[in-house]
Amino acid sequence: MTKKLFLLPGDGIGPEAMAEVEKIIAWMNSALAAGFETETGLVGGSAYDAHGAAISDDDMARAMAADAVLFGAVGGPKWDGVAYEVRPEAGLLRLRKDMQLFANLRPAICYPALAASSSLKPEVVEGLDILIVRELTGGVYFGEPKEIIDLGNGQKRGIDTQVYDTFEIERISGVAFELARTRGNKVCSMEKHNVMKSGVLWKEVVAAYHKANYADVELTHMLADAGGMQLVRWPKQFDVIVTDNLFGDMLSDVAAMLTGSLGMLPSASLGAPDAISGKRKALYEPVHGSAPDIAGKGIANPIAMIASFAMCLRYSFNMVGEADMLDRAIANTLDKGLRTGDIMSDGCTQVGTSQMGDAVLAEFQALAG
Ligand code: NAD
Repeated sequence: MTKKLFLLPGDGIGPEAMAEVEKIIAWMNSALAAGFETETGLVGGSAYDAHGAAISDDDMARAMAADAVLFGAVGGPKWDGVAYEVRPEAGLLRLRKDMQLFANLRPAICYPALAASSSLKPEVVEGLDILIVRELTGGVYFGEPKEIIDLGNGQKRGIDTQVYDTFEIERISGVAFELARTRGNKVCSMEKHNVMKSGVLWKEVVAAYHKANYADVELTHMLADAGGMQLVRWPKQFDVIVTDNLFGDMLSDVAAMLTGSLGMLPSASLGAPDAISGKRKALYEPVHGSAPDIAGKGIANPIAMIASFAMCLRYSFNMVGEADMLDRAIANTLDKGLRTGDIMSDGCTQVGTSQMGDAVLAEFQALAG
């Protein structure tokens, strides 16, 4: 069966990092008969230059028709002055909205070889493997009313509204419970039920949904502020964390930094399963941006992009063995002392983007061949 991948390399270091994934796809097709069919489109500034929009309707349709979208990065100073609706980030927002990607998955994995470069003690982070599942399409970023009103007395009032309905909480916790079953079988749900009504509902719905459908998974609840503290105190106590859009935004950034550089961090955004095929719409992207300061120099770290492709193998194509091998290939490459500039440390060998990509591919070939 063919597997349709739509590649959106984007701007800055996006295309440089994506090129390393394309090498892996080409090898998997020729040596493992993986059957990937790829198409490439434009997003962000590069789409604006070509079409005057951050993503064209044509490319949007191709994204909707694909089994998975691989996204590089968008933006850069060249497009700082373009109109708000067509700014580079609008391409990513449209993809998330039209594909209804409500679940954002951010793993925080600390490779043993990089444990010493974390800001926390090595024993706290070494071997860390947690997954933050963040609700991405609801909550205070989208709730209405959302406005600034003039009170007429020289004062203004800014209003954002935190809103969650039962179905939104059920579907995001369902993703977290399903994923937990494939990992450590533990979910910690984080909210603020002590001060927020939406937190009271969140906790109630997660507990009821768990009891009815996922009683085999261990469930705990934590206040989101305490969760932030625990993440930097002893992160290895967690397996899967499920939380809302706002808390997830912050907690996933905290968790990310436990593991070192932005250049190492992958992510996935998933939609609901299709009623007929059971397939979820999915977009995979590194957490980092387009890094204009190093773009075009061949020095960007491609590992976040490669690890995003490993997530794609795991979650869109159920190629768990291949995904495990690709993750192991990254770890082995780091064990051998190869480093791009952003993760360089004493005694290691500094390499560029394509050398790092080639080294990961060689390790992957050794494991999979
Ligand atoms: P950034 O992530 O692009 O870069 C932050 C710093 O990290 C830079 O010093 C950069 O060189 C470094 N860095 C990032 N990725 C790296 C990698 N793979 N290898 C080595 N070093 C890496 O964030 P920024 O500088 O705040 O934003 C730059 C542009 O990217 C802006 O236009 C911003 O809007 C855009 N952006 C896009 C996305 C996205 O496409 N999802 C996300 C964040 C920022």
